[in-house]
Amino acid sequence: MNQQLLDRVLKSPRLPSLPAIAIEVIDLVQQKDVNIKQIAHTISHDPALSSKILKTVNSSFYGQAHSIATISHALVVLGLNSVKTLALGFSLVPNLRDSGGAGFDHVGFWRRSLYSAVAAKTMAKQIGLVQQEEAFFGGLLQDLGMLAMYQTLPDDYPAILAQIKDQHRNLWQAERAKLDGMDHAMVGAALAESWNLPPLLVKPVLHHEDITGAPEELLPLIRCVALGARLADVFVIESNGGALETYYNLSQEWFNIPREQAEGLFRAIHATTVEMKRLFDLPTGDLENPDEILSRANETLQNISLQQSIQTTQLQQENQELAQKATTDSLTGASNRGRFNEFIAEQFEKASQLEPLSILFMDVDHFKKFNDTYGHQTGDRVLVEVASVLKGAAPKGALVARYGGEEFSVIVPRMTRVDAAALAEKIRGLIQSNPVSSEDGQTLHVTMSIGVAAYEGAFFARPEQVVKAADQAVYAAKKSGRNCVRVFAPRVANPGATPTPQPPQQRVA
Ligand code: GH3
Ligand code: MG
Ligand code: MG
Repeated sequence: MNQQLLDRVLKSPRLPSLPAIAIEVIDLVQQKDVNIKQIAHTISHDPALSSKILKTVNSSFYGQAHSIATISHALVVLGLNSVKTLALGFSLVPNLRDSGGAGFDHVGFWRRSLYSAVAAKTMAKQIGLVQQEEAFFGGLLQDLGMLAMYQTLPDDYPAILAQIKDQHRNLWQAERAKLDGMDHAMVGAALAESWNLPPLLVKPVLHHEDITGAPEELLPLIRCVALGARLADVFVIESNGGALETYYNLSQEWFNIPREQAEGLFRAIHATTVEMKRLFDLPTGDLENPDEILSRANETLQNISLQQSIQTTQLQQENQELAQKATTDSLTGASNRGRFNEFIAEQFEKASQLEPLSILFMDVDHFKKFNDTYGHQTGDRVLVEVASVLKGAAPKGALVARYGGEEFSVIVPRMTRVDAAALAEKIRGLIQSNPVSSEDGQTLHVTMSIGVAAYEGAFFARPEQVVKAADQAVYAAKKSGRNCVRVFAPRVANPGATPTPQPPQQRVA
């Protein structure tokens, strides 16, 4: 963070100062031997302050069985810490009420702050945290840094606020990007520290946007304030579905509060905020009905999840298309060489004597002649036609691949060598009887030489060996005059002999 920039903000004469009564209270509570009587006396001396404290502690939010009539009584019932924090808060807020300067959205600011404060304290109460007052004032003062920056950086800060629109959640990152790593949480905490406010009030301000690095011993308090801030988003922003979801998720994750209970707390927070608005006399504007807020949030939440599912489907489709492209030959639509290798490796793993694996390897006869006589486009047509015949003839579960150039392959799981030879013969016949027309309308007769090899639980140790055997069988078919089928017949009984591909009728059973 840029220390110079922070100093410029902190030393600005435009900043709100700490009222005398607050300074006095801070001094008193920091003395070694805290004199409770004297604290009660000091607070009682300020009638406006003590009346606000008493009204607050007697409000339904505090749920006191008996009404509390004096500050001394409040100190006994609520404890020194609570009364001190209340006194600090109540003496600070009037001074801050109008700060920020002209053009600052006071109504939006205090509405968010008050909701945050009540929400933070409600959460603290819910989880049985002692520091409920600290949660409240941590919530109320969390965005103090915004007031300070608006007043001291008039050239930069209003533009940052305009940029994030009403999305307070995005503010701290936008600030850090524009202000050399500085954000409103850091500024607010530094300001509170410069006023000598205790760490219990400073730390929640510092960590309210991003709890990473928060001190372990204050984590429950800081989480209450941070969750209060997320909850305020649900109350104050227009598209609040995402905020509601965040609130539900964090209540569950941080405090184990299930969704229905979190919804109940949401309504209670609204009711208390309406009550606190009167006590604090803050310019929050009208507070929207919680049912309307919730139904708006649920509606935007549904839109968000709808959009997410549309995006997911699109993404899945794109991925499928990409996967398809990566495994398919673009000219013929048959599988490509990569997919061929993958498939044969997979199937070889599964194959056995009972479930043999057959490979048909084939090469178009004198293919070059089509290219040379009728042009490359006609050559392409022949390839597309051949692939289409192969796809039509291949049994279910087989893979039709373009191995390269004018070489194709059909891999057939669970098919014996004998049946594969018959399939090859059928394919050979189909190709022969399926003429292709050239670019200029001539009828072309296409034939193929086909080699067959099969793994039937023995002889081949690796898939490449079956491929090589099928390739050898194609070579034998070419040598035998083309337009025929040759089958690779392993001679298991006589391992010394070199196996040679045979025509189907001579195959070794
Ligand atoms: P053989 O009967 O011995 O197999 O003879 P052939 O002419 O079919 O074999 P050769 O290997 O001599 O020629 C194959 C030709 O296939 C050479 C190459 O230019 C052509 N070729 C390879 N890929 C494509 C392609 O995608 N489209 C076209 N039109 N031709 C291709
Ligand atoms: Mg904030
Ligand atoms: Mg060829």
